[in-house]
Amino acid sequence: MINQKMRELGARRSVIRELFEYGKKRKAEIGAENVYDFSLGNPSVPAPDSVNENLVKLIKEESSILLHGYTSAQGDAGVRAAIADYINKTQGENVTADCLYMTVGAAAALTISLTALTTPGAEVIVPAPYFPEYKVFIERCGAVIREVMCDSDFQLDISAIEEAINEKTAAIIINSPNNPTGAVFTEENITALSALLKKKEEELGTTIYIIADEPYRELVYDGVKVPYLTKYYDNTIVCYSYSKSLSLPGERIGYVLVSPRCLDFVSVYQAVCGAGRALGFVCAPSLLQKLLPLCLGEVSDVSIYDRNRKLLIDTFTKYGLETVKPDGAFYLFIKSPSGDATEFCERAKKHEILIVPSDDFGAPGYARLSYCVKTEEIERALPAFRALAESYK
Ligand code: PLP
Repeated sequence: MINQKMRELGARRSVIRELFEYGKKRKAEIGAENVYDFSLGNPSVPAPDSVNENLVKLIKEESSILLHGYTSAQGDAGVRAAIADYINKTQGENVTADCLYMTVGAAAALTISLTALTTPGAEVIVPAPYFPEYKVFIERCGAVIREVMCDSDFQLDISAIEEAINEKTAAIIINSPNNPTGAVFTEENITALSALLKKKEEELGTTIYIIADEPYRELVYDGVKVPYLTKYYDNTIVCYSYSKSLSLPGERIGYVLVSPRCLDFVSVYQAVCGAGRALGFVCAPSLLQKLLPLCLGEVSDVSIYDRNRKLLIDTFTKYGLETVKPDGAFYLFIKSPSGDATEFCERAKKHEILIVPSDDFGAPGYARLSYCVKTEEIERALPAFRALAESYK
C-alpha cells in the first residue's frame, strides 16, 4: 500500500516545473537561444566572490572531521550565535542562538514551522497570489489553506483577512517581498495586520502566528524598506533562506527564527525542534552552515535584477502590456490582455516565451515572469514580446 496523496503529488509536477521541462525539450528542438525561458526563480547573478573564497578557505584550513561532521540537530551553536548577532545588529532585535533552527532552505523552514504550529483541521491564511508550494506544505499537515486575495495594489486586504479569521486559524503566511508580484507590504499595512491579529487573538482566546517567509528580504529596489515582522507582532516565526540573497538555491541553507517574545516561547521552539526531528530535517549541511558567519551581510549584485526590472517595465509599457511594478524579489506580474492567464501564457508559448499563468499562484488574469536572468536574454526576447503584445491589437 502506498500513500495515494503523496503519489499524486509526485505524479503531478508543479506548473512551473512542467513549463521548465517543456522549455528544456523545446531548447533541444530549436536551440536554446530561440527559447525565452522566464519560468524559474533560479538566480543568474553569481554568488558574491566571498562565498567561493570562504568555502575554499574552510576546506583548506578547517579540520575535515569538524567541517563535514554532524552538527547539533538545530545547527552549530556558534553559527546560530553569529546569525543571532547579525539579526540584532541589523534589525535592532534581541534574539539568541536558541531562537534559531538551521534548515535546508526556506522550504524546510516552512514545513517545519507549519508542522510545529498546526494540528489537523487547523486553518492557515495565505494572502493570494502566493508561492504554490504553500498549499502542498499546509495540506501535508492535515491543515486547511484559506486563500485571501490581496487588494488591487497587491497589499494585504485587512478586512478580507479579518473575515477569514476564526477559532481554527493557526497562522498566516506573509511573504514580502512577494513571489509572484514583487510587492513589499508597507509598514502601514503590516501595522494594520498586527493590530488585527492582536484584536482577534483577544476576541477568540487563541494564538495566531505570523509565519514570515523571507527568502527575498534583501532583494529590494529604490531603497524600499521591508518591515521586520518580529518588531510588529510577538507571535512571529521567520523562515529565512540564503537561496536568493547569496544565489545559493542548490546548496539548501536557511533557518527558522522563533521570536523570543512568542507567547510560550520555550514550547514553540521545542515544537520547531520536534518538527525538524520528525521530518528528518536535522543538522542542515555543515559546510554551508559554517560558511554563513563568514558571509553575513553579503548580498548578490541586485543592480543586475534592477536593470532587468527597469528594462522590462519601460519596454512593456511601450508595447501596451500592463505590469505590477515590483519593489522587490525578481518577478514581474504581467496583466493578461485577454483577462485569461492560461490563454496569455499559451499564446506566449507560440512566440517561444515561457511565463507562468497566475492561476497557479491563486489569482486569475496575470502571468509571472522571472527576470533573474542575464539582461541579454531579456533583450533577445523583446521582439517576441512585441509580437505577443501586437497579437492582441
Ligand atoms: N518561499 C518562496 C516565496 C519562494 O519563492 C521560494 C523559492 O522560490 C521558497 C520559499 C523556497 O526557497 P528555498 O530554495 O530556500 O527552499
